[in-house]
Amino acid sequence: MDPRFAPLFEPLKIGPVTAPNRFAVMPYANGHSYLMPNGAMGVRAMRAEGGWGIVGMQLSEIDPTSDLAGLPYERLWDNEDVAVHAQSVARIHAHGALASIELAHTGLRSRGISTGYPVMGPSSASTLRPEMPFMGKAMDLADIRAFRASHRAAVRRAVQAGYDIAYVYAAHDASLLWHFLSPAYNQRSDGYGGSFENRLRLLREVLEDAKEEAGSNMAIALRFAVHEAGGPRKILFDGEGRAVVEALSDVPDLWDVNISGWSRDSGTSRYDTEGFQEEFTAFVKQVTQRPVVGVGRFTSPDTMVSQLKRGVLDMIGSARASIADPFLPNKIREGRLDDIRECIGCNVCVGVEMDGVVVRCTQNPTMSEEWRRGWHPEHVPAANTPASVLIIGGGPAGLEAALTLGRAGHAVTVAEAGEEWGGRVARESRISNLAAYGRVRDYRLYQLGQLGNADLYLQSPMDAKSVADMQADHVLVATGSHWLNTGRGRTNFDAIPGFADVAFTPDDLLNPGGLRDITGPVVIYDDDHYYMANALAADLAQRGLEVHWVSPAAALGGWTANTLEYPRILAEMNRLGVHMHPNSTAQAWSSAGLQLARTDSGEALPEIPAATLVCVGLRAPNLVLSAALTQAGINHRLIGDAEAPGPIQGAVYSGHRHAREVLGTEPEDRIFKRERPVVFDPR
Ligand code: ADP
Ligand code: SF4
Repeated sequence: MDPRFAPLFEPLKIGPVTAPNRFAVMPYANGHSYLMPNGAMGVRAMRAEGGWGIVGMQLSEIDPTSDLAGLPYERLWDNEDVAVHAQSVARIHAHGALASIELAHTGLRSRGISTGYPVMGPSSASTLRPEMPFMGKAMDLADIRAFRASHRAAVRRAVQAGYDIAYVYAAHDASLLWHFLSPAYNQRSDGYGGSFENRLRLLREVLEDAKEEAGSNMAIALRFAVHEAGGPRKILFDGEGRAVVEALSDVPDLWDVNISGWSRDSGTSRYDTEGFQEEFTAFVKQVTQRPVVGVGRFTSPDTMVSQLKRGVLDMIGSARASIADPFLPNKIREGRLDDIRECIGCNVCVGVEMDGVVVRCTQNPTMSEEWRRGWHPEHVPAANTPASVLIIGGGPAGLEAALTLGRAGHAVTVAEAGEEWGGRVARESRISNLAAYGRVRDYRLYQLGQLGNADLYLQSPMDAKSVADMQADHVLVATGSHWLNTGRGRTNFDAIPGFADVAFTPDDLLNPGGLRDITGPVVIYDDDHYYMANALAADLAQRGLEVHWVSPAAALGGWTANTLEYPRILAEMNRLGVHMHPNSTAQAWSSAGLQLARTDSGEALPEIPAATLVCVGLRAPNLVLSAALTQAGINHRLIGDAEAPGPIQGAVYSGHRHAREVLGTEPEDRIFKRERPVVFDPR
């Protein structure tokens, strides 16, 4: 091991237990929920195998009054839940890691729709789910006693399940304990409201209950958001956030500190750099003698060591870095830094979780496939008979397929028409603040360079004849897609008059030099609803151009709510002076500018005069080569965006899946292992 990184591998005593190193997988939502325990265990066991010293169980409801209806979280409601948790713990322990569990009551964030119990909070107020038609019930003293008893019982069950660490949860604006602390939500006038000491009372009591219940069997961690971003009556790191740490400094065995809300805690690479939470959390270690863990999208061992050495943190916490690379700690220990598959900070993982499906990752296509498909992030089964494979296109799909098949032992050739590798990620990473997207290419190119059986050729446009000449056993066509400039989009199936004559596409702008040639004012017509239109808008506005972001949807950039970027994008547009036009459907483009009508009523809107139109609508697969191959009778697979355009994650996943299908290890009927509910005997 490189001695520089030795501090990361020193054991750390946490109350009655000892973590083997300084790497902790945070309790993050992995989309599996209590209904998919096998998949969830597969996720956790893989991180334990990869060298993480602590592996965390995601948020676990302590009882039915914390009703997260429809969201994929865990439950530890009663003794019958203990057995499943115990199996998860055993799988983690098998690799020498500690297992932690985040026990939670989500208070005013609960949904109150599945279990039928009222949403509860410190005061009778709106819930923190204004989209749900429920008010919060102000907890009376009997409710508070019941909650404390319930939390204590959950701690007892956590001990029974064998956990090493149980979390008391007071973070993310999603915890009853946080709601009692908050001067905004707590409007009580009894001993649990009003003064700081009173608002702190329930958290202190629950922590002390938990410590007593855990005894010498289990450590108690406190997950606490030391800082809330923006707005009045907030808990701030230089105000009440610090006061909480001072008041409870030596009560928990471990402080797990972060910032709130979730969109600030899980900042994307577009808005936050690695280690971005330090300015808020650095004070904690000066206040407490207890060990401190924190997060910050850490992927670089130098940054991690620096945090330890400078006394910012004792332990490096991670969700996304462990999703993107479950083997990150082992790779650092073995000095294989170039093998680290760095998180790109895109939050696709968060996005799919918000949709209630298992977590996906742009960098790691094996995420959530550990159990149900048996995919390992580091190993591919060896090919029975090494064959020759020709892959056409060097974007995310082509590079991932090449790497997977190369690792299996096939002789791989990748032919790329252009002068650079990476396809769409080469283009997209040129947008201001999206440089980290280039890691999708960089990781794969480097790994391919390490194989002795992969030949890579740039400036090699392929046609049916050159493909036939290669006589490869397998041909994978990863020719990608292109943006249309006709105005056809996700909500509009027809071309818009005037568009095709003049509109630029993101491809035009992102080819080398493209962004420099634009003149303002610019209208970006967004019928894509993800990051492309607003990322371009920000980039062009930073270059001093007047920019209008126009969309037929009621909410601009809708899917960015899933990546938690939506509020930050709106703030960025505001800061850069980008004009925003939701609910505005394009009627036609003319020399005078863009003609618009309200989407809801069809009523005409004022024209936007502009010099340049950028159309961000549909992408069409590049199928010319595939059609020629079909005509020539050459068998091939379409992969990635050439099969169906989607996010970068989809292209990487497609490249990986098709490669495994070529290897013959995937089920021919496409039906993978599933979790099956138990049907009880009706008697
Ligand atoms: P994906 O996201 O599916 O990987 P991309 O659009 O990122 O797709 O990449 C596709 C790549 O394929 C581009 O770099 C493009 O230059 C390359 N390509 C397209 N057609 C050909 C061809 N006929 N021969 C070689 N390379 C091609
Ligand atoms: Fe990182 Fe994106 Fe993977 Fe999430 S989906 S872990 S943000 S690379």
